[in-house]
Amino acid sequence: MKKDIVIVGAGLAGSLCALYMLKRGYSVVIYERRSDMRDTVVIAGRSINLALSERGWTAIRKVGIEHYVEKIAIPMPKRVMHDLEGNLTDQYYGNKDQAIYSVPRGELNILLMNLAEEGGAKIFFNYQCTDVSTSTSSLFFNNTITKKKIELNCDLIVGADGAFSAIRNKMMKQDRFQYSQHYIEHGYKELLIPANADGTHKIEKNALHIWPRGNFMLIALPNLNGSYTCTLFSPFEGKDSFAELTKSSDVLRFFNTVFKDFASLVPDLVDQFFNNPTSSLGVFKCFPWHIKDYCVLIGDSAHATVPFYGQGMNASFEDCRVLDELIGEYENDMFEGLSEYSKIRKPNGDGVQDLSLHNFIVMRDKTADPNFLLQKKIEQKFAQAYPEKWIPLYSMVSFSNISYSDAWKIGMKQEKLMSQIMSIPNISEIWKNEEIMQKMLKLS
Ligand SMILES: Cc1cc2nc3c(=O)[nH]c(=O)nc-3n(C[C@H](O)[C@H](O)[C@H](O)COP(=O)(O)OP(=O)(O)OC[C@H]3O[C@@H](n4cnc5c(N)ncnc54)[C@H](O)[C@@H]3O)c2cc1C
Repeated sequence: MKKDIVIVGAGLAGSLCALYMLKRGYSVVIYERRSDMRDTVVIAGRSINLALSERGWTAIRKVGIEHYVEKIAIPMPKRVMHDLEGNLTDQYYGNKDQAIYSVPRGELNILLMNLAEEGGAKIFFNYQCTDVSTSTSSLFFNNTITKKKIELNCDLIVGADGAFSAIRNKMMKQDRFQYSQHYIEHGYKELLIPANADGTHKIEKNALHIWPRGNFMLIALPNLNGSYTCTLFSPFEGKDSFAELTKSSDVLRFFNTVFKDFASLVPDLVDQFFNNPTSSLGVFKCFPWHIKDYCVLIGDSAHATVPFYGQGMNASFEDCRVLDELIGEYENDMFEGLSEYSKIRKPNGDGVQDLSLHNFIVMRDKTADPNFLLQKKIEQKFAQAYPEKWIPLYSMVSFSNISYSDAWKIGMKQEKLMSQIMSIPNISEIWKNEEIMQKMLKLS
């Protein structure tokens, strides 16, 4: 029987999920709170680009649209670390032929919506979901322009309505539903390095640039038009925090001291700093991710996380792939299919959140720490010599489809082992010796 699917939210997860459901032969309707972004001008400071990695690609490939995405993706095989003096150090993420990819959020979202519509989905904009029934598969919307209210019924509701999900909010009213949210002390602000006059990039194009400064961190991802979308992560309160940088002179002093080479690349830095919004960052957890046999959460609505591993979208895309596989496997028993989905995906939601919080420390402190860089070199050497014994944590997360929960567990074990190796006297001089490899082999 042709199932009727209503997806709430035409963001990244909702639009990709539509493609999966269409491929299954289902009838798909999406309701989106915002107006159609294809008709609107991008608002400065809200155009973030995203790092797409292997598990995101896997989900994209499975619906056969990778050749479209490749056209808007810039490979970034390495980080380029900018120190206080403006010296640069290359740090490859894995083998030199492995990369994560910078993709523009808006263009990717538009591409996915266009493909969903071409495949037969209908998208209704300016419809805000206000309620969902916890006993029947009905849901309620407000048209944000006409103020008209509508009620819908369908076979399956997919809640892809992001971190502040209305569907999840309603699920919270169920007995024994688990929910927690935690905001970190840091927020973020987007800034833009413009292109050169001839449209070329001002700094190396095929890299993620990072300015790690302990409590502060700045990253830059390349855009196809020669610009870089940059994100400043900074505490909300305390010395040089967002709360304290209130005057142009403070902003200039701060950037000229902490991010000197960056400041020289952005002529309208002060205007951007004051015009672009400051946003908060948090981790949202819940369980279960479904109601009976008719409603399921995907993406940020189920597991929003801080962006430090660049995995929120990738995890959301993986949700779409796994949900689709389980719907296929339990075709005649949606209740079992959705229960399995909740059970399988929840530990991975937790895993990606643990990994993301952990990677904040790695990015802001450790990418500038010579001991950490040495540790990564040793791990890479061991991984090349004994690939069946060791996949570095970053590679498990970004270059494989190993589950986030396994990656997190294995990564923490590796960390313990490496602390023993790093405590060997003179390790910086003897790390290339075969005895170090043998010791790692024994410990692993
Ligand atoms: C600064 C930053 C950097 C990031 N960088 C990366 C990265 O490099 N790589 C990566 O993989 N991830 C990254 N992420 C995470 C990524 O943005 C999210 O995980 C991803 O957008 C989740 O997709 P989604 O569709 O679940 O939610 P969203 O993209 O938030 O989409 C939700 C949609 O639902 C709509 N909606 C909301 N409420 C309602 C309602 N009541 N009714 C109808 N519609 C509704 C919204 O308008 C929106 O269109 C980053 C996040 C941030 C904040």
